[in-house]
Amino acid sequence: MSERILMSQASVSAVEEDFVLDALRSGWVAPLGPHVDAFEGEIAERVGVRHALALSSGTAALHLALIHLGARPGTKVVLSTMTFAATANAVVYTGADPVFVDSRSGDGNVDAELMVEAVRTLLADGETVVAAIPVDLFGRTADYDVLEPGLADLGVPLLADAAESLGASLGNRAAGSFGTAAALSFNGNKIMTTSGGGMLLSNDAALVDHARKLSTQSREPVPWYEHTEIGYNYRLSNVLAALGRGQLQRLDGMIARRREIRDRYAAAFADLPLRFLGRDDAGRDDTDDNCWLTTVVLDPSLVEERRSDSPVVEERRRSLETTPADRIVEAMSAQQIEVRHLWKPMHLQPVFSGARSFTTGVSEDLFTRGVTLPSGPALTDAQIDRVISSLTRVVDAL
Ligand SMILES: *Cc1c(COP(=O)(O)O)cnc(C)c1O
Repeated sequence: MSERILMSQASVSAVEEDFVLDALRSGWVAPLGPHVDAFEGEIAERVGVRHALALSSGTAALHLALIHLGARPGTKVVLSTMTFAATANAVVYTGADPVFVDSRSGDGNVDAELMVEAVRTLLADGETVVAAIPVDLFGRTADYDVLEPGLADLGVPLLADAAESLGASLGNRAAGSFGTAAALSFNGNKIMTTSGGGMLLSNDAALVDHARKLSTQSREPVPWYEHTEIGYNYRLSNVLAALGRGQLQRLDGMIARRREIRDRYAAAFADLPLRFLGRDDAGRDDTDDNCWLTTVVLDPSLVEERRSDSPVVEERRRSLETTPADRIVEAMSAQQIEVRHLWKPMHLQPVFSGARSFTTGVSEDLFTRGVTLPSGPALTDAQIDRVISSLTRVVDAL
């Protein structure tokens, strides 16, 4: 049995070992210390923002930014429906109601015009909208050319969920620099990792200062423990910040490897009925993406054709109950290759069934036909060849 190929395994090297060893030997084994300060400075510089706050997760970064922006019971936060649950969960932690907005088909990112329209509609209904959260999906920035001016006109802050997009850009601006604030994630499977961690970025000093205070149990600056608001324990440890600094030094190399892997898939699958999300997008190629996860979407015409002339009753019954994505994930897993569904849209999640949403059917359609392929920088060429030959066989047999 061949070894299992994972979707996005981290790559660590001697660079990270040296950094972590330095942190351990320095005695700074705490959620404070020189590596935390340096890591914040280095990420802020890389992204081109003035302030950064290292935190225990990307979810924590979203949560604290939302608190600062006034999210609380009775308010609304408008966000992409196609995202990891963390984006919506952070909204619910504050007591605000999430309102979901559908995707555009080219890259799965939020339909920017629809997001602006959703905010406008809610405001016209008399709702208090404290923020809109576009998500930079799979390492490609959302359409900020529409979102920034559109939301600014309506006076609603833009909080960018850049958990998946560090290293990506749009025009001459880096992911994480758009909007009022942005959240990064350094979870184990992201473009770079601290094993677990995140960062809040903003040019607004008051926002980051407030989040910094909230992240350390909201201690007031007096000699005793004084608290005037509820706080959280959300700081990143100095040891993990050291790991992050090592990863940051290697970020461009890891992105280049992910791009190389995507290019190999694209060349190998040119004749399959697959579309690459983001890459084959009308009007914008994927040269600015960080290529975090390469995502393919099955061509619907092929699926319809197969369904209608499938001779086997059992096969036909199965094909009505399972989606093309289900079948690809299952068949690849049997070959010991981890392929996953795209994020199941939040408006289809049982836990958010009561939430308001602005939908077009695009995200649901992408969810039924799309999968993410193994994309990690540590993949060997032989492993990529295995993915290519397996997926080719699986798609041919659909
Ligand atoms: C990973 C992720 C998060 C959460 O980050 P954590 O560090 O795991 O808390 C939020 N949003 C999106 C889109 C993500 O992919």
